Amino acid sequence: MSETFTGVVAIDGPSGSGKSTVAKAVATRLGLRYLDTGAMYRAVCAAAMYDGIDLHDEAATAAYAQQLELFTPTDPADQTVIANGRDVTAEIRTTRVSENVSAVATNLAVRAELIARQQAIVAGGAIVLEGRDTTTVVAPYADVRLLITADPEARIARRTAELHDTVDQETLTMTTAQIVVRDEKDSTVVDFQSASDGVHEIDTTNLTLEQTIDTALHLVWHAPTSKQQQQRGN
Ligand code: C5P
Repeated sequence: MSETFTGVVAIDGPSGSGKSTVAKAVATRLGLRYLDTGAMYRAVCAAAMYDGIDLHDEAATAAYAQQLELFTPTDPADQTVIANGRDVTAEIRTTRVSENVSAVATNLAVRAELIARQQAIVAGGAIVLEGRDTTTVVAPYADVRLLITADPEARIARRTAELHDTVDQETLTMTTAQIVVRDEKDSTVVDFQSASDGVHEIDTTNLTLEQTIDTALHLVWHAPTSKQQQQRGN
């Protein structure tokens, strides 16, 4: 009988590092659930804008997030996100949401609400969760914690190819502005650029997607778990 992994894998990393693709692939290959925590921040942002909430009114946005009925899928093959009964799957990926999501993500009361919801989902185990504070705040006790990084140039080129049909100077410049600005805003509340103790970093700058997934799977099976590291006192 082949071995199965039923623990928790947490994956962090900045925009364009490839963390979502890697996390989803690892979940699929290991038969685990998958949680995209960024999609939850995006969904709060999209739903609040749809309902005319002023995102800079922190109290109103927090109250809105606390009452929001949010369905966040954990099936890696079906990432349909429903907010207050409305399918927001496509809307949460729009530039409008990408440009406004930091206002939601830097609201500490919203973070507390979403972190509690994420931790309730993760408590069921057998999951790969992905997002900027997952290895440090949401699931610091995950069995395996990974930080996926890449040089800024590589991240910008990948995100540009994802968002635009052509990769030229104009689209590169547009994407650079978006990524740099969002990373700067997000850095005010979470440090997702450097690996904390016990987190294994995978620099994907010179790796193909397949090599990155293989490296992540190798770490899941062979890296000392967070618990083993704690027992050894490192
Ligand atoms: O990962 P993604 O780019 O979809 O995340 C969208 C936004 O949600 C990030 O820019 C960040 O503002 C926020 N976020 C967060 N904490 C997470 C995941 C995402 O603050 N765990």
